[in-house]
Amino acid sequence: MTGFSTRAIHAGQEPDPTTGSVIVPIHATSTYAQDGVGGLRDGYEYSRTGNPTRSALETCIAELEGGRHGRAFASGMAATDAVLRATCRPGDHIVIPDDAYGGTYRLIDSVFRHWGIEYTAVPLDDVDAVRDAIRPTTRLVWCETPTNPLLGIADIAALAGVAHDAAARLVVDNTFASPYLQTPLALGADVVVHSTTKYLGGHSDVVGGALVTDDGELDGQVAFLQKSAGAVPGPFDVWLTLRGLKTLAVRMERHCDNAERVVDALGVHPSVAGVRYPGLPQHTGHEVAAKQMRRFGGMVSFQVRGGIEVALQVCRRTRLFVLAESLGGVESLIEHPGRMTHASVTGSQLEVPDDLVRLSVGIEDADDLVADLRQALG
Ligand SMILES: *Cc1c(COP(=O)(O)O)cnc(C)c1O
Repeated sequence: MTGFSTRAIHAGQEPDPTTGSVIVPIHATSTYAQDGVGGLRDGYEYSRTGNPTRSALETCIAELEGGRHGRAFASGMAATDAVLRATCRPGDHIVIPDDAYGGTYRLIDSVFRHWGIEYTAVPLDDVDAVRDAIRPTTRLVWCETPTNPLLGIADIAALAGVAHDAAARLVVDNTFASPYLQTPLALGADVVVHSTTKYLGGHSDVVGGALVTDDGELDGQVAFLQKSAGAVPGPFDVWLTLRGLKTLAVRMERHCDNAERVVDALGVHPSVAGVRYPGLPQHTGHEVAAKQMRRFGGMVSFQVRGGIEVALQVCRRTRLFVLAESLGGVESLIEHPGRMTHASVTGSQLEVPDDLVRLSVGIEDADDLVADLRQALG
């Protein structure tokens, strides 16, 4: 297999055979001329079912994850929805992280539960707790690592073992790490989910999702849902995502460099009570993270001294770090999970500390980012 950046730039992206166009064209078409009834060119029939720009992205993401089959969706949630529907039926059970991405928790708790799918939320860094939560009806173990917003680490290989012992599948939402830092299929996972909105797109200008698996039968079910339910991305959106992917490796290196600088600065600041970053030797998941990740990513969370008021004040005061939800773009973002991304889980098992601030560290100059945080912390 060629190197990561070579795949990011070339996989699925051969020059266009008719024009030589080096860049994959945006195939803005809903339908395709047939050479006689049923005479499809390259299998393309209608753009809900397939589109060449989308195929290029699907091939590229699959190769970056080291998987056989990739499928692109209109959002990360649409991809999540497709995995759940492809694998679960009423009466089935799923194990989810007790700090699952809020949208995933909402989909499972507020939509799938009403269709008869049961779930248990457990801390995924506790492999025994995951094993104990498994029932005869368990179809999936859902994993996120690093987690959002607490940046906990789950041991993908260990969870794959637990899931497979129970004839269940392990799904890993790899949005926070990106395939540059972590490839779950190689560690035993059955399916990888992405919100391509984040690091893969990388420029905060497009919403999208993707699934990758080696399992041809599951991929067939996912493709069937793609065309039957139709939560597919448009050609311009997949083209933007493909463009973002090309620079994933260089962006991730810089996100990691900058996050390390920010972590060092926060760690010695008197207003900071604690920093959560898997790269820190004292992080409880550090050893596992070091084993399964290339580096530790661009997400940093920290707790402040002085409670929620101080946390909110820091979020108000930054000038470079933009106060916004989402993550993974070139620009740095700051948010208060308790009041923003995780407001919907207040009072549930997924509630997060209210003195917690989450940063998506961008690729600006690290000195400027550190200076901005210092002035905001006062
Ligand atoms: C953003 C995100 C999602 C949802 O993706 P959308 O593209 O917003 O639908 C799922 N999982 C994680 C970890 C995310 O950060």
